[in-house]
Amino acid sequence: MAERVIIVMACSVCKNRNYYFERGKKQEGKLDLKKFCKNCGKRTKHRETK
Ligand SMILES: [Zn+2]
Repeated sequence: MAERVIIVMACSVCKNRNYYFERGKKQEGKLDLKKFCKNCGKRTKHRETK
């Protein structure tokens, strides 16, 4: 049984949780991505959260 982790990417401006995806547990490091936030109406920095 492969272990999978659900990653939630939240906007660092409004804290809205915009993106969810799965990844294997082997991958490490916090993700920091520029993504479009519907709430802000623009591209903002998104952080991995739980
Ligand atoms: Zn936002």
